[in-house]
Amino acid sequence: MNDTPQRIVRMQQLNKHFGSLHVLKDIDMEITPGEVVVVIGASGSGKSTLIRCINGLEEFQTGKLEVDSNELLPHGKSGKALQTIRTEVGMVFQQFNLFPHLSVIDNITLAPMKVRGWSASDALETAKRLLERVGISDQADKYPSQLSGGQQQRVALARALAMEPRLMLFDEPTSALDPEMIGEVLDAMRELAKEGMTMVIVTHEMGFAREVADRVIFIHQGEITEQGPPEQLFDTPQHERTQSFLARVL
Ligand code: ADP
Ligand code: MG
Repeated sequence: MNDTPQRIVRMQQLNKHFGSLHVLKDIDMEITPGEVVVVIGASGSGKSTLIRCINGLEEFQTGKLEVDSNELLPHGKSGKALQTIRTEVGMVFQQFNLFPHLSVIDNITLAPMKVRGWSASDALETAKRLLERVGISDQADKYPSQLSGGQQQRVALARALAMEPRLMLFDEPTSALDPEMIGEVLDAMRELAKEGMTMVIVTHEMGFAREVADRVIFIHQGEITEQGPPEQLFDTPQHERTQSFLARVL
């Protein structure tokens, strides 16, 4: 019998360089289905690079990386696995990255039709359901520039969910938002977490992290310094670097 625990991400001794800059150093990270992992750390510590490696947006040089049993190879030599992973992993960025020339509904239906081969009517039905779920069904025919930042980010979330991802990555999804719009995006993410979506979230919203995370990972200069359940990491950080980071942000 195979009693190895199921893992949706399995990263072993991963190293990433940008030229002479060693950005990720021997990273070991495993994520189980349904887990919500929040990644915290100072600006420039490697958080974005780490999660971008998971869907192959960044190449790495050494180490092993498996995402939903598809192996991503070093130096970007992943071939077909990369296509599969891009289809199965959704991502929401700080800048919403919507297609400006497409309406909200077309932003959401494009990939399911092109990549998954869904019919227009199936894609439309799903898109409408998702827009309702993120609370903006009345905005379906607008263009991104006609929406607030919070609405655009919820469209971006709906667009990612339309592909029925197995894993969702979030890179500071509320950092570009006006303060009054942060809550509506966090609410949508909170719902998703409750429904059991596997999520890796880079955020500076520590209250949100404490509330939704099963595990918090603290990164310092490309290394995982410390990780644990939120109450442990926030209330009794073991490492001096974690303590001084939290003292600055909490
Ligand atoms: P964070 O998301 O924690 O702020 P990043 O992962 O964006 O950190 O960046 C980690 C380090 O890698 C930083 O020193 C950054 O300047 C550098 N870096 C990020 N992207 C690139 C790139 N495309 N080319 C060169 N250096 C980069
Ligand atoms: Mg970043």
